[in-house]
Amino acid sequence: MKKILKFGGSSIANAERIKNVVSIIENTLNSSHEIFVVISAFQGVTDALIKIGTNVRDGKHTETSLPEILVKHEEIIMQLGLDTDMELGTVFKQLSSELEQHIPRCPGASIDFKMWQDELLSFGELFSARILSALLRSKRIDAELLDARKVVVTDSDYGSAYVHYQRSYDRIRSYIMNRSRLQIITGFLGANEYGKTTTLGRSGSDYSASIFGAALNVDEIEIWTDVDGILTANPKFVNEPRSISELTYEEAMELAHAGAKVIFPPTMIPALYKHIPIIVKNTFHPELPGTRIAQDRILEGEVTVGISSVSNVSLIRMQGAGMVGVKGINARLFTCLADKGISVMLVSQAFSEHSTCFAVKPEETNLALMLIDDEFAKEIKAKYIDSILVDNELSLVAVVGEGMQNTPGIAGLVFEVLGRERINVEAIAQGSSKRNISFIVHDSEAQRAIQALHQVLFERTPR
Ligand code: ASP
Ligand code: MG
Repeated sequence: MKKILKFGGSSIANAERIKNVVSIIENTLNSSHEIFVVISAFQGVTDALIKIGTNVRDGKHTETSLPEILVKHEEIIMQLGLDTDMELGTVFKQLSSELEQHIPRCPGASIDFKMWQDELLSFGELFSARILSALLRSKRIDAELLDARKVVVTDSDYGSAYVHYQRSYDRIRSYIMNRSRLQIITGFLGANEYGKTTTLGRSGSDYSASIFGAALNVDEIEIWTDVDGILTANPKFVNEPRSISELTYEEAMELAHAGAKVIFPPTMIPALYKHIPIIVKNTFHPELPGTRIAQDRILEGEVTVGISSVSNVSLIRMQGAGMVGVKGINARLFTCLADKGISVMLVSQAFSEHSTCFAVKPEETNLALMLIDDEFAKEIKAKYIDSILVDNELSLVAVVGEGMQNTPGIAGLVFEVLGRERINVEAIAQGSSKRNISFIVHDSEAQRAIQALHQVLFERTPR
């Protein structure tokens, strides 16, 4: 069987955990699987590099942070017993000095800053992948680094670059063709057509695993993390969330988008097109099956699979008699927000067309209000549109499941539970996929809502 194994920051937070990762790799190789490994930066490193970047840009004091990152890597190298590895020693020195030289070249607050920052962030993955491949070699596993920038081709949207799939797949295939050594691939990174470093978005190494998996036609993509797969609800809110054994790609996307931060949503795209299952597993409990995400799953009577939530959202309500039957109001509304990069998390419009409401992050409400006032100045002045209302401190909750499509009564059940708990629902939306019923409640009532729903949907005998 051919597999990709991806290990994220929490799985490689320190020397002990890195050794654990090596034993997972060894075990997989011993079961005679052909594998490729994708790795992210060590835990906290990308965050620390981002901080350095913004500090340098803002002219703030940075003298302590960079040495700290280098020392952290040095310590890990020592603890892994690799301090006598001449090759790693040389590479580490070289990378460290490249990083040191990169810092003063910060262009300040310009568009080039993002380009400079992506280059800066790439050191996180370059360090970790170098160290892991040296460690594997010290264990007589013939591993080598694959700098993903050589093969993953992206556009120039620094910070969350768009991947050109076909060109990347072609390059990946021809690169791998003549290589028999185990490839340790830097996640998160790509390069544009001019060879400039790009990154695929925070947590993007999951996505890298899926891109390489699709290019190499693997049988499975394993995402190794620090929880037992995807859970039925956030453990912060419910006492005993269960690990979900199987999900469809669509269900996984619905859950991921609304807050179950186990897997980076675009990861599903390459896997979905190639029908490659993604298995989410726990590095601390490799014996557990984790969650399998695939094209189909057997519906064993479970209509819903999980509840996800995001707290601290704001709801903007726009209403007015002048909106009824008028064409283009929504188009203008969402265009003016999108033009300034505001992401809308939920939308609901009543059939009367008299009101539209939508959820955004609180830090974006002021800008959103300004944009709306501007766009609809004429209508507001003429009282076609009433003054815009904002509600803060709200939570978005989504109940997700493939089985809801054809099962009457789920929405009824969900809102009955909320009614029984005397929880007021601020807004409702059901995704067009019918796999998701989303609603908004007050932050202070979200936990109670999730607990009550979890109890009814997942803790009683399966429905
Ligand atoms: N190191 C990158 C990040 O922290 C990518 C990843 O961890 O997946 O966002
Ligand atoms: Mg991650």
